[in-house]
Amino acid sequence: LLRDYPDWEAWRHRARSLKEEALDAWEGNLTRLERAVTAWGGHVLHARDASQARALILEVARRHRVSAVVKSKSMTTEEIGLNPALASAGLTVTETDLGEFIVQLAGHPPAHITAPAMHLNRRDVAQLFSQHLGISPPAEPAALSAAAGRYLAPRFEAAQMGITGVNFAALDGTLVFVENEGNLRRTACTPPVQVAVMGLEKLIPRVADLELFLRLLPASATGQRLTALVHLLKGLKSGPWGRQAFYLLLLDNGRRQLGREPELREALFCLRCGACLNICPVFQAGGAHLYGRVYPGAVGLVLAPFLPPPGDLADLCTQCGACGEICPAAIPLPRLILRLRAASRRFRLLRGLAGAAGHLLCQPHRYRWGERLWRQTAGRLWGMRARGVLGSPLAPASYHSLAATQDASTRERSARTPRLLPRAMATGPGPTEPPPKADGLAPNRFAEAQSSCHHLADAPALAAFIAAGAQGPVWLEAHPWLTALAPALEGLGLEVKVADHHWAPEAHTVVSLGVAAVPETGSVVLAPPAGPAGWLPFRACRQVVVVPAGRAALTLGQALSLTGPPEAPLITWLTGPTRTADIEKVLVLGAQGPAALEVVCYEADPPA
Ligand code: SF4
Repeated sequence: LLRDYPDWEAWRHRARSLKEEALDAWEGNLTRLERAVTAWGGHVLHARDASQARALILEVARRHRVSAVVKSKSMTTEEIGLNPALASAGLTVTETDLGEFIVQLAGHPPAHITAPAMHLNRRDVAQLFSQHLGISPPAEPAALSAAAGRYLAPRFEAAQMGITGVNFAALDGTLVFVENEGNLRRTACTPPVQVAVMGLEKLIPRVADLELFLRLLPASATGQRLTALVHLLKGLKSGPWGRQAFYLLLLDNGRRQLGREPELREALFCLRCGACLNICPVFQAGGAHLYGRVYPGAVGLVLAPFLPPPGDLADLCTQCGACGEICPAAIPLPRLILRLRAASRRFRLLRGLAGAAGHLLCQPHRYRWGERLWRQTAGRLWGMRARGVLGSPLAPASYHSLAATQDASTRERSARTPRLLPRAMATGPGPTEPPPKADGLAPNRFAEAQSSCHHLADAPALAAFIAAGAQGPVWLEAHPWLTALAPALEGLGLEVKVADHHWAPEAHTVVSLGVAAVPETGSVVLAPPAGPAGWLPFRACRQVVVVPAGRAALTLGQALSLTGPPEAPLITWLTGPTRTADIEKVLVLGAQGPAALEVVCYEADPPA
């Protein structure tokens, strides 16, 4: 992928300066964001710490009489310990991201920022489904993902509150969410209340800056050109219950304190891509649970003293420097870790012990003497521990037998840990395949995104195309361009339904209007107006998006400058069907959202 990005290094440094720009006037920018979100009808809440954040969310739940909550993946909500708090208040909480759903069933903390269930294999997942859900799908990633999707679908409808994170917040009040499975869209749109929990550092100056961040984040996180879905929220959504209540919770929880540290504040530029975890030899050997904190890896080391409970992990680093080279925000992580080490008593102590051990191990006769001495005293120390005198002495077992056991478990864990590049990237179309050109102008990557793009001239051709793959009724967005197709579709023997007052059609084929197509990323942009059409595109097996031919070959930057109709609260970019690689990093269809995406560049003039 990076071979297509010759300016990658320049982009990393540009991203860093944009984050710097947003955080230099941090308080003023937060006030601008708050004003803008309030202006479009959202409520903004401020939480000093995790306990205040939990209390505020519970207060919102009480105000709206919430009993069931659906959640999309959010490390910020992990950070504040939200799920246990909601559960102990009597609320039912369902994680809807496949990986988070699996670790919720298992009762484990996430094992990775972007791949929470990477420590479990397909048999573990099948066993969890059988034990907790009473279903026994085949132990295959695709079947397990589909089974989870079927289990979760009614939970969206039953929930009164959807909780999400936020990936970026532009100062004009546009909130940006990225995802691959389609569950975030349903979490954000289906219940009558949405709460978005955002760390204070997620600011970016302008929506236009997304062009850069949307290239850097997915490429670094999962090796994708763009995530399957990107949502830009800038208004209140509506549903059968009326207009949705929206709350943006701004979380400090130690971030302002980190921002006051001139030598460490660069850690606030983090995009949470997880690349510094994937490349870290300590993470590869020990996994996330070694760190005992929500944020593992190199960035976790730098955040640990600031994000409660304060911790000192400065020793969990080999200073190999790989994290600093791979970070898409050009954060000099190895340098920041060295600064932490300078102030770390634990690191000095460990370094002293390691130096002494190294000295001993270089002299076998002293080592053997030391081991004998230790073995003789360990029994006595064990006895002291039993009386509460010592914490946890080493067991008096042979070093060699302990090492053999640890080696076996390390090998098993390493086999499950992604190395430099996630395997999800390797399962997609290879970067060696030269992208075909559309009109000789720009690369056409619809096929790379596993969707298709067709050029059709008029209504009969479009109707025939839709009919060819339809099963059951065809649902049309209530737009004159599309409803004009109804007679032609009926003439082909199809039942046609229009999403004018049907809020939740479970449909096979759905036809909606796109505002632009972006061949360079294989994306199509939808800006359905508030109302049933806003729900339609994300509940289908087969999604047909009709784009006016004049807007079918926009660049990423041009498409970002489109705002859609003024009444469209949520703009969504679709790049291929939904997908997940949460089980053993095998790429399969996502549990929610369209399984097939067909983009039509439509030459016909709009109806009068
Ligand atoms: S520090 Fe950099 S590499 Fe690590 S998660 Fe954050 S953005 Fe990604």
